[in-house]
Amino acid sequence: MIYPIVKFGDPVLEKPAAAVTVFDDELKKLVEDMFESMYAAHGVGLAAPQIGISKRLAVIDVTFKEDPDAKLVLANPEIVHTEGTHRQNEGCLSIPEFREPVSRARIVTIRAQDVNGKWYEKTGEDLLARAFLHETDHLNGKLYISHISALKRDLIKRRIRKLAKAGEW
Ligand SMILES: [Zn+2]
Repeated sequence: MIYPIVKFGDPVLEKPAAAVTVFDDELKKLVEDMFESMYAAHGVGLAAPQIGISKRLAVIDVTFKEDPDAKLVLANPEIVHTEGTHRQNEGCLSIPEFREPVSRARIVTIRAQDVNGKWYEKTGEDLLARAFLHETDHLNGKLYISHISALKRDLIKRRIRKLAKAGEW
């Protein structure tokens, strides 16, 4: 099932999500649906709050279907190590049409549970590192625009309000 993506303005995107505690068939189905929804939206990462489900759960595939091993499930992820910095344009499926340069760590290690509840650690560089940070932020109710200047952020918010008024958001 493909879920519609929740857009900026919905409070679910700005509140901390609840821990995943049950790793059952229902969770497996949700993870499958999240991958499907992410691909349908042409994204490389999706957090559960972005489909209106306030759970600490995210999926990532920075290869966009090219490498099945690159499909990652992050349940209850924590950032355990970061290194370096890397500035690159960043976007979010919940803030479509906008992209802004964001400085992030270039190398990031996360600790998370997979779909079966098994803990693992993984280190990513560049785009994968960025995805780890972006998706973990989502689960803490934080959006990438919190990492840009207040001036730019206000500009984006103003343009979104305009779009919303016109019924285009
Ligand atoms: Zn996002």
